[in-house]
Formats: sequence, C-alpha cells, structure tokens
Amino acid sequence: MVKPTGWTQRAQTATQAVASGEDPTDHDQVWRDLKDGLAALLHDKCWYCESPVDRSDNAVDHFRPKNRVNDAANPHNGYRWLAFDDSNFRYACTYCNSRRKDVVSGTAGGKADRFPLLDEARRVYTAGSIALEQPLLLDPCEMSDWRLLGCHQENGQPCAAGTDPVTKKRAEASIEILHLHYEPTCKKRHAAAVQLMSDVDEGKRLFELVTNDPTRAFDFKTAAARLRRAIDRDSPYSGDMHFLLRGQRSDAHPWIQELLEV
Ligand SMILES: [Zn+2]
Repeated sequence: MVKPTGWTQRAQTATQAVASGEDPTDHDQVWRDLKDGLAALLHDKCWYCESPVDRSDNAVDHFRPKNRVNDAANPHNGYRWLAFDDSNFRYACTYCNSRRKDVVSGTAGGKADRFPLLDEARRVYTAGSIALEQPLLLDPCEMSDWRLLGCHQENGQPCAAGTDPVTKKRAEASIEILHLHYEPTCKKRHAAAVQLMSDVDEGKRLFELVTNDPTRAFDFKTAAARLRRAIDRDSPYSGDMHFLLRGQRSDAHPWIQELLEV
C-alpha cells in the first residue's frame, strides 16, 4: 500500500507522544489517513465479515486494541505502542468493529476492545514483541486464517470450516465476537451462496456437455470464470464461497479443484 507523503514520520511522532502518556485517540488522524488505502486493498470490503462497506460506514480497526483490553487477566492499558503501526490496522465495517445488539435475532457482537488469546499467560502488557501471543480471533492478515471459516449454504449462517478443536474454537469465538452471525449479514451471505451454487450447477452441466460438443467450450469457460471471480480475495464473502466450492469437488468434475488452486 502506498502511504501518504510524510505518514511514517507522523506515525513515529504520534508513537512517541503516546509513549509519553498522551491518548492515542488524540492522534487518530494518523490511522484515518490510511483508511482509503486499506479499503482499496480488498475492493472496499470489510476484512473480517467480507461484506462490501460503504465508505461512510467503516473504520480502521486496531487488531490489538489501543486503549484497553477487555479479555486481559490483569488491567491492560491497550497495545499503545502499536496504535500507529500499520501492521496492526484492519479495515472493518462498524458492525464488526463496534459493539451492538441485533434485537431482531437476539444476537450481539462487535469487536470493540476484545482481544482474547489462546493462552492468556502469554499476554504482553508493555511495549515489546507480541510474537509469542496467539490470538484467538481469526486474523484477516494471516496467510490461512480465512480458511477456518465457512457458512451454511441453506441460510448463510457462519460456521467453523474444520473440526480440529483449536481452529474450531477460534472460528466460533470469531463468529461470536465479530458478530458474523448478524442476521442481515447472513442474508447477504446466503444470497451470494445461492448465486454460487447456481453457477456451480451451470458449470457442471456445461462441463458434461463439452465432452460431446466442443463448441460449448466457450460457455463452460464463461461459467468457470464467474466462479473464479466469486472466490477472488477481493470479492464479497470470498472465503465463504471458497468453503462452499471446496465442498463441490468430485472426481467427475476435476475443474472445480483446478479453480480452487488458481
Ligand atoms: Zn464487517
């Protein structure tokens, strides 16, 4: 990501001011200045729930909270030394970022100052390396964390993708804390799933046709390209669509596995 001119210098100055006792929020312009750049990385979708985000309803989330940490065993003043470190920034919609209740479904969520760890004993309290902390929340900036979440095809409700106890625990905690089961989000995820499954059916039908009628090859390629687009990292709900497409693999349709490997 290209940073605005002078950004690194301003981030350093703010980091020093906070180290001397100032409130990170008094320097919020520093992270706000990266918001559009972060948004552009994944085509304006929230990095957590993968919903398309209106630019007026979004935030730069600090993956490690900057002011206080709700889940810490001892009082924690926040990972203040990372308040202006762009490796700690995640682009998020306000539903994932801020605490709120959904009265219709009776669920609540929103990350706010939550940051649980797998092993609380490794919690870092003062400026220093956080390399040994193991976040419970799935991190959109980790290479493969996104693969640990999936959704139910029939209603768009999120679920853990795997059965390993630790990854399952991380997925379930993320669903809860990030409010990924927020009903309006499930509806949108479900609509994407319906489209995907219809494209899968079309792809399978055309793949079988092409075997006898090579003139249909172009139609098949077009259908396959639509599916490829749906699992592109910058498409809405691409992680969930990847999960659903993984479930469609079969010996009769090797092209699905090929799409997943691109
Ligand atoms: Zn979100």
